[in-house]
Amino acid sequence: MLVVHPDSCCDICNESYDSKRAPHAIACGHIFCCDCLQKCTPSHCPVCRGVYRKEKIKKLHVETTIMGRDEISRASSPSAIAEHLQMVAMVSGEGVLDVEVEKSQPVRLALESVKRARKLQQDIETARTERLATERKLDRVLDDVRRAKLVEDGLLQSNSETLQQVKGICQACSYAHTQFVA
Ligand SMILES: [Zn+2]
Ligand SMILES: [Zn+2]
Repeated sequence: MLVVHPDSCCDICNESYDSKRAPHAIACGHIFCCDCLQKCTPSHCPVCRGVYRKEKIKKLHVETTIMGRDEISRASSPSAIAEHLQMVAMVSGEGVLDVEVEKSQPVRLALESVKRARKLQQDIETARTERLATERKLDRVLDDVRRAKLVEDGLLQSNSETLQQVKGICQACSYAHTQFVA
């Protein structure tokens, strides 16, 4: 159920919403009272200038209030907010009695969020550690590949040197052969 704050009013006529003046939504999502929307010509939203169709104006079914004005101002008073924040700070720490936590639903919800956030943080930390380990492993493999390449280059080099030596020997050999035949 949507709840209308006692101070909410139509932005066109500034009249508060109540049982007689219900909030109405138009295509763009902005909300005004029905009278003002019907009177608006041409049918453009006064906030965003979006065009709307008068036959498509939707009445919003809302609870005009669940708290009196006094209750709302008490709940949102600086001291009440400070108390709430203190409770949240307390329960987000270690060693807090469950009884204290159970006392207030907002605090319990806040605690659950804190727990979820912590779990998420741990998951991120684990993922990061795993990624670092994988990166290190990959580095080692690349190192091995580089070393293997160096060995291969060395072998190719000495191979071609040996070939040169063999060629030299062959040349000397065939020279000696010609000399001998002659
Ligand atoms: Zn109005
Ligand atoms: Zn609008």
